[in-house]
Amino acid sequence: MRGKTPKLYIVIPCYNEEEILNQSLDILCDKLQRLIDGDKAAAGSRVVCVDDGSKDKTWDIIAERSAGNEAVLGIKFSRNYGHQNAILAGMLESRNAADCVVTIDADLQQDVEALDDFLAKYMEGCDVVYGVRNDRDTDKAGKKITAEAFYKLMKILGADVLPNSADYRLLSAKALNALADYPESNLFLRGLIPTMGFKSDIVYFDVKDRTGGQSKYTLRKMLNLALNGITSMSTRPLELIVAIGSLFCVLALVIFILSMIDWARGMVVQGWTTTVALLCLIGGMNLLTNGLVGLYVGKAYIETKHRPRYIIDRAIWDGSGVLEADDQ
Ligand code: UDP
Ligand code: MG
Repeated sequence: MRGKTPKLYIVIPCYNEEEILNQSLDILCDKLQRLIDGDKAAAGSRVVCVDDGSKDKTWDIIAERSAGNEAVLGIKFSRNYGHQNAILAGMLESRNAADCVVTIDADLQQDVEALDDFLAKYMEGCDVVYGVRNDRDTDKAGKKITAEAFYKLMKILGADVLPNSADYRLLSAKALNALADYPESNLFLRGLIPTMGFKSDIVYFDVKDRTGGQSKYTLRKMLNLALNGITSMSTRPLELIVAIGSLFCVLALVIFILSMIDWARGMVVQGWTTTVALLCLIGGMNLLTNGLVGLYVGKAYIETKHRPRYIIDRAIWDGSGVLEADDQ
């Protein structure tokens, strides 16, 4: 159990969200005020908008809103670094000021009323609280199927992720400090955070439709996330390759013995189709498995460079106006 009302920082990644950001900030600021009034969050709680290199007026909106309201802070990336890096930046930059941080999408598809439950779990002593969506009814059929397939695949491939856990989650300052010690560039927070341990719990929340704008998660970004998820959390695919490779070796041995018997019986020309089929199959498998190994080597290569995961162009931070570039 915790005694002190926590200072809460709410982090929202924003990528080209000009259509809905104002409305979302209205809702969030109102909710934050209600939490403060209800003594569930401490005065000095903030909303941190991370502009992930938007090409529209997102940053102008953030700057405008923070000028009129000290509860709104802003961080602007030098370019688009992706959703995972945006929430990471928001969390890491907030960790010295906040007692706990909640990340939520800018479209507020996740129900903000669940914040009470998140904070209640924090007060019970949890350092990590996962938001899990109640259902996927509001998703388009395509998204629903791909999401389900993704979680199944992740499980088979050895990366245990809480199904339907969005990046709507609370971390305490202690958990954030632990997270800061993970230097990886291939970031998949949904898989990474459970590996940190700590007392954790789940909060269920409803999912709504996006009220404006398009989904910023293009198919390419989604595939990238899935690939990062698998390659950063597990080497099971490499083990599967070895298993399949061994199976093919045994098969080859059997075929070799069979063809030796055929040869001994003078039936050498037969089996042309089998030969071609096997050639194609083994050639294909070879390419695929080499590619997969290459994928891991490539990811390892990126990690060895230790490049910054994001670069901050400017920031609006607690009464200090717009701060120019200080990078991470
Ligand atoms: N987002 C981001 N960078 C990106 C893509 C998305 O910061 O490159 C943000 C986006 O602004 C939103 C959140 O990530 O706050 C989730 O995106 P979206 O709602 O488009 O995804 P969906 O709900 O369709 O999965
Ligand atoms: Mg969304």
